Amino acid sequence: MTTRLAPPVFGEPYLLTPGPLTTSRQTKEAMLRDWGSWDDDFKAVTAEVRRKLLAMAGITDDSYLCVPMQGSGSFAVEAALSTAIPKDGKALILMNGAYGKRAAQMVDYLGRAHIDLDKGDYLPPQPDEVDKLLSDNPGITTVFLVHCETSSGILNPLKAIAEVVKRHNKIFLVDSMSAFGALPITAEDIGFDLLVSSANKCVEGIPGFGFVIVRKDLLQASKGRAHSLALDLYEQWVYMEKTGQWRFTPPTHAVVAFREALKQHEAEGGVDGRLKRYSDNRDRLVAGMRKMGFKTLLDEQWLSPIITTFFSPAHKNFEFGRFYNELKQRQFIIYPGKLTLAESFRVGCIGQIDVPVIDELLAAIAETLDVMGVDDCTPAPL
Ligand SMILES: *Cc1c(COP(=O)(O)O)cnc(C)c1O
Repeated sequence: MTTRLAPPVFGEPYLLTPGPLTTSRQTKEAMLRDWGSWDDDFKAVTAEVRRKLLAMAGITDDSYLCVPMQGSGSFAVEAALSTAIPKDGKALILMNGAYGKRAAQMVDYLGRAHIDLDKGDYLPPQPDEVDKLLSDNPGITTVFLVHCETSSGILNPLKAIAEVVKRHNKIFLVDSMSAFGALPITAEDIGFDLLVSSANKCVEGIPGFGFVIVRKDLLQASKGRAHSLALDLYEQWVYMEKTGQWRFTPPTHAVVAFREALKQHEAEGGVDGRLKRYSDNRDRLVAGMRKMGFKTLLDEQWLSPIITTFFSPAHKNFEFGRFYNELKQRQFIIYPGKLTLAESFRVGCIGQIDVPVIDELLAAIAETLDVMGVDDCTPAPL
């Protein structure tokens, strides 16, 4: 049985995208007030949010810390990379999409050494490949992996890779941006050293900040490592510990909205509850799309409950721009594809959407195909 979520504010489309995404009415309403960034009330909100994020990662002692960072998720990834790679260190960047590529670009900006394992658009990096690279390159200090690579929707083999990285005793940085809060990842189970995520993904807050969950001894040892004043995670932490405040202007409204979103996350049953709703969304979406003749990029085992890539139909009447606009008129915003090898588009399963919304979406897609005169959704052969 599914309970219908409250619809978004009247006239608003559903965002079937991997963030910003559709937020609840309560989350939006939490922003109808201004906050002094130095005031005790706001400091308490920051402290509560940091505490709850640690709990979400299964952390019960003070071996890890949560340091929020202003900006979009990439700002926090960049801050984490500069914390995780010593100045004379070397990173192994595991990439199979846009976010792995971006991390390598960031490391170039940092002026630090890196080796890349590039698997192209959608193939998962394999544990034995990582094992071999680490054996052959003893200078590697740090391994970077994207948990769910949002550019294809693939769920990477996190646990198996984590085991290899830990066996080699390297620093392990996980970009769990689009997964944390919906896919279980705990310090105990995965043994990550740093985990990065942001406010506007599976916790369903609004954009404005990211956060890094980091092993305390590693953060303490990283003083002076940052390449950037504003993105210095160590200094952000030191200042926050001392004053309870963010070092520079915090996105106050985003933080209070996030606290509200965290309450709803708890009420839904935490990570398990969220995973269940998103998985139900994905199952209904994939089944409904396949019934219409669409094909998914990925095989079953790699499909995440976060976002799904579908190949565009090869039919002569199919044109993505028109498809997008027809769906937008029907109050659904979808996402263009990011593949180099084929035309595709993506549909997100995250945010304040549930199975009844997916059913409405499927009906809107069927109607749109009809309007466009597309009667066959088979993709072009690869
Ligand atoms: C969203 C996302 C990011 C950060 O992107 P921003 O646009 O900077 O918020 C990083 N990695 C992954 C896997 C993501 O999904």
